[in-house]
Amino acid sequence: MTLNRKCVVIHNGSHRTVAGFSNVELPQCIIPSSYVKRTDDAGKAEFIFGTYDMIDATAEKRSDDEVYTLMDSQGLPYNWEALELQWRYMYETQLKVSPEELPLVITMPATNGKPDMSILERYYELAFDKLKVPVFQIVIEPLAIALSMGKSSAFVIDMGASGCNVTPIIDGIVVKNAVVRSKFGGDFLDFQVHEKLAPMIKEENDMETMADEEKSSTDVWHEANTWIQQFKSTMLQVSEKDLIELERYYKEQAEIFARQQEQLKQMDQQLQYTALTGSPNNPLLQKKNFLFKPLNKTITLDFKDCYEFAEYLFKPQLISDKFSPEDGLGPLMAKSVKKAGASINSMKANTSANLNGLGTSHMHTTAGDNANGSSSNNISPEQVYSLLLTNIIITGSSSLIEGMEQRIIKELSIRFPQYKLTTFANQVMMDRKIQGWLGAITMANLPSWNLGKWYSKEDYESLKRDGKQSQPTNASANTN
Ligand code: ATP
Repeated sequence: MTLNRKCVVIHNGSHRTVAGFSNVELPQCIIPSSYVKRTDDAGKAEFIFGTYDMIDATAEKRSDDEVYTLMDSQGLPYNWEALELQWRYMYETQLKVSPEELPLVITMPATNGKPDMSILERYYELAFDKLKVPVFQIVIEPLAIALSMGKSSAFVIDMGASGCNVTPIIDGIVVKNAVVRSKFGGDFLDFQVHEKLAPMIKEENDMETMADEEKSSTDVWHEANTWIQQFKSTMLQVSEKDLIELERYYKEQAEIFARQQEQLKQMDQQLQYTALTGSPNNPLLQKKNFLFKPLNKTITLDFKDCYEFAEYLFKPQLISDKFSPEDGLGPLMAKSVKKAGASINSMKANTSANLNGLGTSHMHTTAGDNANGSSSNNISPEQVYSLLLTNIIITGSSSLIEGMEQRIIKELSIRFPQYKLTTFANQVMMDRKIQGWLGAITMANLPSWNLGKWYSKEDYESLKRDGKQSQPTNASANTN
C-alpha cells in the first residue's frame, strides 16, 4: 500500500538546521542552529533566527547581543526553550503550516550506548504537548543516510561542525558500542583558521576588533559564518598522505635534483646554464591567495599552510601535546571497524531482543543489499570488516574540503591493507550538505507506516503512564 503522505522533516545539526516537506526534494529552509538574543530598552527579549537576519544582527555589533546555540557538542539539544522557539519560527515563517496539520520526522545522531531517555522524552514533550503534532518519528541520522542510499550495511563517516561521527551499521542495525566520535570538526577548523590568520590581519589592520583576543559571541559567530566559511571552502585542502611524509618526499626530491644539477655541472659546462635555471617543483611551496573581504586585502599562504589545517583532523597532536594521536580520524575509524567486528554478534542478539525499546526508528530494518548473507545469526569479524569497508559513506559539509575522500581511503587502506575499499560521497555539494535531511525524507516516505516507528499522542500518554518506553502502535490508525 502506498500512502500519499506529506510530513514535515526537520534535521537539527549542531551547526545548521534543515527543514522541509517529505514530498519536496529541496528543503524550505536551511538556517543556523543558533540565534541572537537581543534585549530591548524595556527589557524584553527578542530572538533572532535565520541566516541573513542573524548576519545582519551580528554585523550591528550591539554590545548587549549574544549568540546562543541549541545543540551540545554531541549534536543533542540542550537549550529546549530555544529549540521550541526555533521550530515555531520555522513552522510560521518558512514552512507556513500549523504543527498540528502534518506528521513530523526529525533526526538524531547515533550515540555510543543507549540513547538518553531524557532527550527522547523532551522531544516527545516538545512535539506532542507543546506543538501538538499528530504523529512523530525520530530517525537515527547515519542509519537514515545509509538506508536512503540503498545500503543496509555501511560505514558512515559524518564530518560536521562539532566533530566527526563514525557509525558502523550492519543489517540495518547501528553497532552502538562501535560508534566513535572525534571532537575535531568544522568548529575546530574555524578556531584554527582564526588563530592562524589573526596575526596576518593584525599586521595589516589597526582595527583592534579583527584580531582581538576578547571577542563577543556575536563577533565569533559572524566571522565563522562569513569570511572563515569562505576561507574554508576555497583555501583548505587535504593532502593525500601524511603531510610530514609529503614534506619529506619533496625535500628528498629537491636533494636528488640538487645532486643531479651538480653532476651535470661537472659533466658539461654547456648544460650548466640550463640546469641552474630550473628548480624542483615543490607544490607545497606554491602560493594561494585569499581575498579577505572585510578589509579588501589579499592574504597569501603557502599550499603547505592550507594543507596543515585539515591535517589537524587526522593528527591533532600537531597542535598540542594535550591531544592524543588516538583522537585523529584515522585511528578512530580503525577502532570503530574493529569494535564493530568484535561486537556485532552480541549486539545483534541484544537488539533482536529489544527491538522496540529504544524509541528511535529502523532498528528492525531487514537486510537489503547484504551480499554476504550476514542476516543469518553469526557473522565473522572479517565479514564485518569487508561489509563496512566496501560501503564507506562520507558525508557532512566538512568532508567537502578538497582531497578529503582520497585521504580517508588512504588512512583506511594503511590500516586494512588486505580489504577492498569503496567510498560513496555525494558529488552534488548541496546534497552532501543536507544528506541527513535527505535521509530523513526517505524514511518519511517509506511506503507503509509500519516500516517506520511512529509515535502518536496516545503512545506518548501511555508511555508517560507506564513511566517507561512502550511499544508504538501503527500510527496510521490515528491519522487517517
Ligand atoms: P553536526 O554534524 O556537527 O551536527 P551539521 O550537520 O549541523 O553539524 P554540517 O553542515 O555537516 O553541520 O557541517 C558544518 C560545518 O562544515 C561548518 O563548520 C561549516 O563551516 C563547514 N563547511 C561548510 N561548507 C564547507 C566547505 N565547502 N568546505 C569546508 N567546510 C565547510
